Amino acid sequence: AKHDGRDGYRYFSEELFLKAKARLELEQRLHRAITGQEFKVFYQPQISIKTNQIIGAEALLRWDDPEYGLIPPSEFISVAEETGLIQNIGEWVLYETCRQGRDWLDQHLPPINLAVNLSPLQLHHGDVRQLIGTILHNSGFPAHHLELELTESALMEQQEETVKILQGLRQQGIRIAIDDFGTGYSSLAYLKQFPLDVLKIDKRFVEDIPHERDDMEIAATIVAMGHSLRLTVLAEGVETKAQLEFLEQQGCDYYQGYLYSMPLPAEEFAQLLSQQNPP
Ligand code: C2E
Ligand code: CA
Ligand code: CA
Ligand code: CA
Repeated sequence: AKHDGRDGYRYFSEELFLKAKARLELEQRLHRAITGQEFKVFYQPQISIKTNQIIGAEALLRWDDPEYGLIPPSEFISVAEETGLIQNIGEWVLYETCRQGRDWLDQHLPPINLAVNLSPLQLHHGDVRQLIGTILHNSGFPAHHLELELTESALMEQQEETVKILQGLRQQGIRIAIDDFGTGYSSLAYLKQFPLDVLKIDKRFVEDIPHERDDMEIAATIVAMGHSLRLTVLAEGVETKAQLEFLEQQGCDYYQGYLYSMPLPAEEFAQLLSQQNPP
């Protein structure tokens, strides 16, 4: 029995060791990725439900590792956040998206909003307002076309400071969207204190429409709640016609999802945008 115990212990520590080693390797590879230009931004169209026009795009980070190929953010964002590397990566995503947006405007593509995900760490580190001001200035991208996506849970940390930071950003003309809405525990009264423009319904409330009555109730309630706060409401993860029809009936403004398009490399997104007829 003693022998088994020792064995068990050794196995446990080996596993921990391998985990730590894998993490360290990931961290080192992330470092290399930043300097080696292995990151790419993909763009997923955001569509007006009323007009069926592309009104914007969400910028989604992809890591094109020379050895492993395209790695999704779920595999590395949390490590990037824990190690602080998210600051550099996030800054790069912001600049790259604004640079690309300026380029599309110069090519006379229809003007659209570009939404960038912001980690809570980025919001509270240094002077985010100044950083973004510099990025907008250097890229020449208009502030009123930039949208920042913050998760509902990010708003729950350091509330008073967050309100001030968001007010500062909005004074520059930047729009603020709440991502993954419905997954936290925000009440209407709570949400009211933040200067917001867009409410994004989390895809978990969309995926089972029209089969799960509870999810349909929640989605409908979020649309009504968003509108009562005079916010634009966008549903994410829309994959079927039935889901879109239900959201349309509820008066939801915009949607995003595989039904219209997956996130696309910049050139493919520009192609799609250029084929769009003027409204
Ligand atoms: P998110 O912000 O909620 O992004 C939406 C995710 O849903 C994306 O996954 C997108 O590809 C996926 N998606 C889009 N349409 C559909 C659909 O119809 N069905 C389903 N099932 N999924 C759909 P992705 O690109 O893998 O990103 C995952 C998460 O990684 C994002 O979730 C966001 O939290 C984070 N992320 C991505 N890019 C960045 C970034 O530049 N900075 C930061 N801080 N986080 C990022
Ligand atoms: Ca998002
Ligand atoms: Ca989301
Ligand atoms: Ca569900």
